[in-house]
Amino acid sequence: FEQFALDIQIFPYGDKQKLLLSQDVSQIEKTDSMRRDFVANVSHELKTPLTVLSGFLETVQEFDLNEADRKKYLDLMSVQAERMKTLVEDLLTLAKLEGNPEPPVTQMIPMDNMLARLQSDAEGLSQGRHQIKLEKTSQRNVFGDDLELYSAFGNLVFNAIRYTPEGGNVIIRWEDCGEEGHFSVIDTGPGISEEHVPRLTERFYRVDRSRSRDTGGTGLGMAIVKHVISRHHGELKIKSKLGEGSEFSLSFPAQRMAPPKN
Ligand code: ADP
Repeated sequence: FEQFALDIQIFPYGDKQKLLLSQDVSQIEKTDSMRRDFVANVSHELKTPLTVLSGFLETVQEFDLNEADRKKYLDLMSVQAERMKTLVEDLLTLAKLEGNPEPPVTQMIPMDNMLARLQSDAEGLSQGRHQIKLEKTSQRNVFGDDLELYSAFGNLVFNAIRYTPEGGNVIIRWEDCGEEGHFSVIDTGPGISEEHVPRLTERFYRVDRSRSRDTGGTGLGMAIVKHVISRHHGELKIKSKLGEGSEFSLSFPAQRMAPPKN
């Protein structure tokens, strides 16, 4: 019952008191239906690569393939296995974040290192197909959990690369905004129309399902970002214009900001 609000009322009852417990059943039904949707989504997301994988496996087993074809099918199988692995890893990350009442580990995260790591990983993913620029004007650092923050920043940076067509620009920015610290990722990708923006942080919500799959997306990245930033008492803001690009930013409150390191 812990997760449902219980209304407790006490009424006089003769010389005793009567306790009335009432519960909003519609909330229970909603949660139950969300849980069913989630299980259906996870099953579907795992079933797709598994079906493709077993199809290729059958081909390798049943046909007398030459070495080159055999290698081609094994490589295709390994892509599907990798996809399942990423999905399971994202599911575990999300489950850990959602079910964790503990605040994140708080240590000083040197932003110089974090940004350099993000830039180098972004370049690895882009393989020279984008212009990636790092703009760092704040010298301050963040108090937080290194793994969680890398996962949130990384999801935004890698999405920008994955959704921005070849030749586009991606800016990774770290700046002061009054007492707050702002991390943003700006891209010249396809942009997102207004009606989709509020739903992007829902698990498995995708604007374009096939494009997300093609780029190796699990549909869980933005849900992870939302949980990490709220655990750090910050805020996620999304600005986007269809056909022009997007800006995803994470703001950190003054209490989370650490002075520059000497
Ligand atoms: P996915 O694994 O599908 O990318 P995410 O949760 O990371 O899942 O993102 C949710 C959806 O938001 C994506 O499927 C995509 O439609 C949209 N999206 C996220 N980042 C961008 C971006 N930089 N440009 C355009 N669309 C984006």
